[in-house]
Amino acid sequence: ERAELQKLVDEPSKTMDGISVELAANIGTPDDLDGVRSNGAEGIGLYRTEFLYMGRNELPTEDEQYEAYKKVLKDMGDKPVVVRTIDIGGDKELPYMDLPKEMNPFLGYRAIRMALDNQDLFRTQLRALLRASQHGNLKIMFPMIATIDEFNRAKAMLIEEKDKLTDEGEKVKEDIEVGIMIEIPSAAIIADQFAKVVDFFSIGTNDLIQYTMAADRMNESVSYLYQPYHPALLRLIKMVIDAAHKEGKWAGMCGEMAGDAHAVPLLVGLGLDEFSMSASSVLKARKQISELKKTDMERLAQAAVECSSTEEVLALVEEYTQRA
Ligand code: PEP
Ligand code: MG
Repeated sequence: ERAELQKLVDEPSKTMDGISVELAANIGTPDDLDGVRSNGAEGIGLYRTEFLYMGRNELPTEDEQYEAYKKVLKDMGDKPVVVRTIDIGGDKELPYMDLPKEMNPFLGYRAIRMALDNQDLFRTQLRALLRASQHGNLKIMFPMIATIDEFNRAKAMLIEEKDKLTDEGEKVKEDIEVGIMIEIPSAAIIADQFAKVVDFFSIGTNDLIQYTMAADRMNESVSYLYQPYHPALLRLIKMVIDAAHKEGKWAGMCGEMAGDAHAVPLLVGLGLDEFSMSASSVLKARKQISELKKTDMERLAQAAVECSSTEEVLALVEEYTQRA
């Protein structure tokens, strides 16, 4: 089994009828690069940079961050590396930052909200990223975007820092793609408008599910509502992918769902371009995709979005995978 999967390490990810998708990996630190390589991931679809800020007593400096980003970018060469800017708050605390204690941390001061409000911290990270950009194929992604104004403010800071660095004589890569995570229903609902201003979307289902179903992802007593396969969620995903494609942009997914064997045929069928998952799932997904036809998966996905419950969707997927 393992040996058979291992043969796919250097293979492209293609459906049986020849349609390519990108299978990328999620990482938290440069130490995860070994797994990315050994599992044949075609890129990094989510580099969670908050680990640079956690488990220490002070903010990481621009140079410390630069070194970490440079290492990942160099290591990946031409392959895409999507770096997500700081996503602190919610369940992730920083002892040295004195963040507010909140009634509803997941609805509160986290990620881009905190970054836009702590410009020194955010601009330091943006500068480190821009400086590192010359070492590889960097794409920058903002987390927890709810409104176009938030994206515009974050992007404006990025451009300001880029101009400053260029004035200082630093080399910064031109045309770095800048995208957003789709984790909040508002962003999915106006994805057609976002698609005109961003370069790509990456759907963060871990959060998008909890916000769509209003069910805290950490709360056991409402976990029955945490349903990745609910048609409400599938419809949001479809809206996001369709909106991206209409503007010639790409759409990925970096939540846990992207690596789930039941989700893969649905997501290929909906037209998802990039799947980012834990590195250990990449080869399994590559094999699964190679045994299925895109045209069949499209039919499956069309039927799934018309279902009215998770159970119905999963029954369709089961039936399809047994037939295929
Ligand atoms: C997500 O919300 O799906 C995601 C990938 O971000 P995180 O799990 O880090 O919140
Ligand atoms: Mg998230």
